[in-house]
Amino acid sequence: MALIVQKYGGTSVGSVERIQNVARRIAKFKAQGDDVVVVVSAMSGETNRLVALADAVSGNNPNPREMDVVLATGEQVTIGLLAMALNSIGVPAKSYTGWQVAVKTDSAHTKARIDNIDDTAIHKDLKEGKVVIVAGFQGVDADNNITTLGRGGSDTSAVALAAALKADECQIYTDVDGVYTTDPRVVPEARRLDKITFEEMLELASLGSKVLQIRSVEFAGKYRVRLRVLSSLEEDGGGGTLITFEEDEQMERVVVSGIAFDKNQARINVRGVPDKPGIAYQILGAIADANIEVDMIIQNVGAEGTTDFSFTVPRVDYKKALEILNQIKEHIGANEVSGDDTVVKVSIVGLGMRSHVGVASTMFRTLAEEGINIQMISTSEIKVSVLIAEKYTELATRVLHSVFGLDKA
Ligand code: ASP
Ligand code: MG
Repeated sequence: MALIVQKYGGTSVGSVERIQNVARRIAKFKAQGDDVVVVVSAMSGETNRLVALADAVSGNNPNPREMDVVLATGEQVTIGLLAMALNSIGVPAKSYTGWQVAVKTDSAHTKARIDNIDDTAIHKDLKEGKVVIVAGFQGVDADNNITTLGRGGSDTSAVALAAALKADECQIYTDVDGVYTTDPRVVPEARRLDKITFEEMLELASLGSKVLQIRSVEFAGKYRVRLRVLSSLEEDGGGGTLITFEEDEQMERVVVSGIAFDKNQARINVRGVPDKPGIAYQILGAIADANIEVDMIIQNVGAEGTTDFSFTVPRVDYKKALEILNQIKEHIGANEVSGDDTVVKVSIVGLGMRSHVGVASTMFRTLAEEGINIQMISTSEIKVSVLIAEKYTELATRVLHSVFGLDKA
């Protein structure tokens, strides 16, 4: 007998039939004697529909507090429907919105963070043999305002609940059957990973592999929640991927576990700026003041008193970043501000890199053999990222997948 938190995403509860399927799956776990707490998303497409309504009525400028009032309704529908579906097959179930639980958050509307969860009512219901269903993606702040956790936030709701309840496992059911070595739509040879460490998952999630909301992975790491990604569309969950902790790992580690690519990138170059203290701050400070996140940064070694800067920003912020820099260009004494928003960041990730040399050079050689030019490079302990032209996304991912031995046998 175990305490399991299960999360079902939008596709998994996207129709009456699918909700009934989910109910049957939950009933099976119940029949085995497990206690089950379920977190659900809104039915697929619903959150987008609500966002569009809010944008339309507010001239694309919705009041954040009211936005959350609207967005939270999506999940409220699915918790009620799922409870009914369970009741109708003889499984006692009870639904809770975020504030009813209560999932306490800060007041950052549309991107709130969970502070704590009061699990008293949940424990009482579980003791009475009920399945408890909690609306994902939402909470309540100290002033009783409804809050939401950011798109994809139901993953984080589920992991946070699992942490609060000290659940034996948090199962994320989605429309894929696990975490893959890379996107199988791009590389048909991609394999599902039975296991991946939390550190690797964190890198892959942050690099644009959209299986889990990154905050849910961070949460799982912090509170050591045993997390498993499974398919809600297959009978046995499709095998799934278990996210483990390194010290629990006995298996021989492969050098590279996965390859991620992120097209949400644009490169900016500031050339010929005076090579003196404070110049990086002047350039990047102005970008930060506009709330634009900077990812990769390169500053050249100065020559003849000037130097060059390159950095990347999210593609949506590209035009704004160029505008800002053109405004301060004369003030900082730069010769030229330019950029490119048809770039992609391709990254190889693997814990095994720590103990293997030559991983980066294999990556660079492989790309060179395909005639792919590398524009920027960044590395961390378990990751090497390169910025290349977007048109090479598929080619680069495919050849790297193959050279690091990730292709299906
Ligand atoms: N319904 C929300 C969204 O679409 C939250 C979630 O599905 O995780 O982003
Ligand atoms: Mg999701």
